[in-house]
Amino acid sequence: MKKLVICNHCEAINRITINKSENGYFECGKCKKKIEEKAGPWPVTDQRLEKLISLSELPVVVDVYADWCGPCKMYAPIFKNVSARLWEKADFYKIDSESNPNISHRYNIRGIPMTLIFKNGQLVCSQSGAMDEVQLERLIQKYM
Ligand SMILES: [Zn+2]
Repeated sequence: MKKLVICNHCEAINRITINKSENGYFECGKCKKKIEEKAGPWPVTDQRLEKLISLSELPVVVDVYADWCGPCKMYAPIFKNVSARLWEKADFYKIDSESNPNISHRYNIRGIPMTLIFKNGQLVCSQSGAMDEVQLERLIQKYM
């Protein structure tokens, strides 16, 4: 299985083989700098998310949030921890719904935080509200 990682130096999308990680890092194919394997969830734009969903071989898990949203702030570290724990099994992103208004329209998002899960390019789950780590992990495991 290949995982998608986004370089935090040049923003290139890298497709990497999971068991080839060296000491927790991959080399970016474009700029050759190191990318930390557990650096997700990567912030993405609306357009980029569509591209990533179409490229991904793993379930794609997305946190839709906004900076003004209190529950979103509480949920962010929970999402981050689960993303670090399940990094080999899913691709994790976060998207700011304020600067990417199309996302709410496209996926009919009425409340945030919203967790979206895509599999084989299709939306398979949209779960509104913050969850704890156990709940989020269980939800993702349903789609692995
Ligand atoms: Zn790079």
